[in-house]
Amino acid sequence: MRITSVTVTPIWMAMEHPYVIATSAMAANPVDIVTVETDEGLTGYGEAMPAYEFTGETLWTVEDVICEYLAPLVTGRDPFELERITADFEQLVGNQAAKAGLEIALWDLQGKALGRPVVDLLGGRTRDAVPLIHAFGYDEPEALAAKARARAADGVTVFKVKVGDAPERDAARVAAVREAVGPAAQIKCDANTGWRTPRRAVAAIRLLEPYDVEFVEEPIRRDDLEGCRWVRERVDVPIALDESVRGPREALAAVEAGACDIINVKLMKSGGILNALKVNAIAEAAGVALHVGSMGEVAGACAAMISLHGGLANAIYSDTADAAAMGYVDAVASGFEQQLDDGVLTMRVPDGPGLGLEYDPAAIARLRAARPWLGAAGPGV
Ligand code: MG
Repeated sequence: MRITSVTVTPIWMAMEHPYVIATSAMAANPVDIVTVETDEGLTGYGEAMPAYEFTGETLWTVEDVICEYLAPLVTGRDPFELERITADFEQLVGNQAAKAGLEIALWDLQGKALGRPVVDLLGGRTRDAVPLIHAFGYDEPEALAAKARARAADGVTVFKVKVGDAPERDAARVAAVREAVGPAAQIKCDANTGWRTPRRAVAAIRLLEPYDVEFVEEPIRRDDLEGCRWVRERVDVPIALDESVRGPREALAAVEAGACDIINVKLMKSGGILNALKVNAIAEAAGVALHVGSMGEVAGACAAMISLHGGLANAIYSDTADAAAMGYVDAVASGFEQQLDDGVLTMRVPDGPGLGLEYDPAAIARLRAARPWLGAAGPGV
């Protein structure tokens, strides 16, 4: 099987409500749908979701980098040459989301060619379904509580609350969500580097401790692993790292520094599934758990992260949420299956060939974005 063409479609995915965290505010998320054709008639789909605060990429840099550099590297090659192809990707510095978008499409092709789900290529499933989570951006505590109550009634048992704001406001938000969802639900907190300094982070985390927080993610500056260790030694809540760890080398630095209990791996940071497996190997060997994180992916990248979570025994957390749960107005693919397991809303690990999704090429074409500086309107923030 040979790759014959690669196309990229940039899309702004509008959300029902703007999503506000410590470092950004978005009314729509940037998504690049990557389509890979082969000489055997199989089509693989991948997806890049660039986030400038994590990888420095945008909707448009992903399109340019794939079309100018990465597509020529893979055209004419077999999608099963994945290790060699991704090694060749390293000729280009950074641009991890662009690399991930194309790499995920190659996994989809491999699975489709074999008639097996991607999770079977990762060692096979260790779980059949993963709990759906609901993540909250900044909002008033009363609004968070109302939404949390509604989602808990739907069967959602895992909540992520964005913190990293003024510590009292953070504590008020977490308290409101805990009050709304009851003692059994899991609440994860993510500061997105917002507390900045170790001393402020310790003070802020101590205010959260009464609300039985599962862990706190990225409390301080991303480059301060020593400071993070200092925080970790002074609080009872486990510490997760996200912005600080993109690929395997940073994972090694984080575990050597004793800076975390959990690593949040994201395909858009690692550059795809192969590098995520390498991050997991380092974490697992160091006794650090894996969290399979999301940047709000909508289709192939979302199915890929659920497949990764489904396959890795060390992945005990994830940010699993499909396009509907994210509040996206449009959809470019179907095939995600939500279900209630003993009252818990879960998503099934994809079990169709490849990533198990049905794409809607007409929807992808209709949603194609134009570059705003060429005269078209952007999505606003
Ligand atoms: Mg995070």
